[in-house]
Amino acid sequence: MTSTDPRRNLPATHELLRAYRAAGGMFDDAAVVPLIQREVSSARMTADQQATRASVSEQIITTLLALERPRLGRVLNGTGVIIHTNLGRALASEEAAQAMALAASSAVPLEIDLASNARGGRMREIEELIFALTGAESALLVNNNAAAMLLALTTIAAGKEVIVSRGEAVEIGGGFRVPDVLAQSGARMIDVGATNRTYTADYARAINAETAAILKVHPSNFSIAGFVHDAAIEELAALANAKGIVLIDDLGSGALIDPALFGVSGERTVRQSLDAGADLVAFSTDKLVGGPQGGIIAGRRRLIERISRHPLARAVRADKVALAGVAETLRHYARGEATTKIPVWRMIATPIDHLRARSRTIRAALPGVGLDEIAVESTIGGGAAPGQTLKSIALSPTAEIASNIENAATQLRLADPGLTCRTADQRLLIDLRTILPEDDEELVGILQGLVQEPSIHPEKPGVETPG
Ligand SMILES: *Cc1c(COP(=O)(O)O)cnc(C)c1O
Repeated sequence: MTSTDPRRNLPATHELLRAYRAAGGMFDDAAVVPLIQREVSSARMTADQQATRASVSEQIITTLLALERPRLGRVLNGTGVIIHTNLGRALASEEAAQAMALAASSAVPLEIDLASNARGGRMREIEELIFALTGAESALLVNNNAAAMLLALTTIAAGKEVIVSRGEAVEIGGGFRVPDVLAQSGARMIDVGATNRTYTADYARAINAETAAILKVHPSNFSIAGFVHDAAIEELAALANAKGIVLIDDLGSGALIDPALFGVSGERTVRQSLDAGADLVAFSTDKLVGGPQGGIIAGRRRLIERISRHPLARAVRADKVALAGVAETLRHYARGEATTKIPVWRMIATPIDHLRARSRTIRAALPGVGLDEIAVESTIGGGAAPGQTLKSIALSPTAEIASNIENAATQLRLADPGLTCRTADQRLLIDLRTILPEDDEELVGILQGLVQEPSIHPEKPGVETPG
């Protein structure tokens, strides 16, 4: 019989330490003992009457051992969402990843010119590449686009008014809300127009001596259709220019090539926005740019200079690893090789025939694994082209090998590498567009596990549903 007082079931620290060593635990006593004590006290709080001393001990050891491996292990993205925020957004190209590894582990001339030994130049490479790719007079890389927006608005508009369309005072997700960012910058938001229709005249009426800027915001993760009107960026630029205020365009994803080339319309590219007359544009570097996390502010030199000098700029500045990775990513565009080198663009540009051919090869390599080929739609994600899709191909395990969808999905997630996929109509869908072809061999190995591991067959005894 198990005791009804859960506290009596809790193993002692020295017992757990011994069990941890027996299980191969490598952390020092000094590191592991506080973890053990915390686990025991949390087990005491949540003590479940059924838990035996052995099961509590086993669970604690599992938790301790998990901390010895990187939590951010490799996962294949079979979700069909190309820029998946929960999976870390864009994958760096091989070249960008190498440049980042080198910058991380070496001294690099971050702020010295090796030819003259003069100080400076942290941002020069990014600035020149962004000029080459977009025509922007100047540019600055910061921690992410949220930081870019906060920094730009704080510098330009603290204590003043910023005009935003009611349809664009949006929440992007992950806590980025346009009204909140504006409030944090010290600017007052003046929202104009109606949720579905805003005209240039609405902005014009709101301008007064207190106005510092007009802010245009990419709606990112939603689209409204039907009776809608959006003021053209060219008109807003002319208005801002005539009134001597700044037009800021938060592009979100920041397309450096037009996804319309691949049938996904409606994204204003960075160059289009600047050509239309935006004074400043801001965008992420880990969405459509396809690099590591960062945020770029590009546009008029005198504004970028003011922004760079603001004390907040230092607090949100990019580190050497991000600078190296973003610069290397931008060089792919400059060489005209974005769609063959940058994973995000490779995924967008993959023709459906290539996905069908890969599906055939994978299914042929797995004769014992029942896999159906299903026509699906992938999305870009990361707030780009909301509501639009790319035709794609998914592999879907048949009911014989994935009779319990939840169990099979869990098993795939916990494989090594892991595989995430989506479910629809009681089926698991593994979208091939968001998995790179060089990873197909690993995918085959993971899918092989579906028939080798019994844990997906709920009718078999002794099966526990993980996590
Ligand atoms: C994603 C996004 C942001 C936030 O960018 P982060 O790089 O994630 O900080 C801001 N504005 C828009 C319109 C976005 O789509």
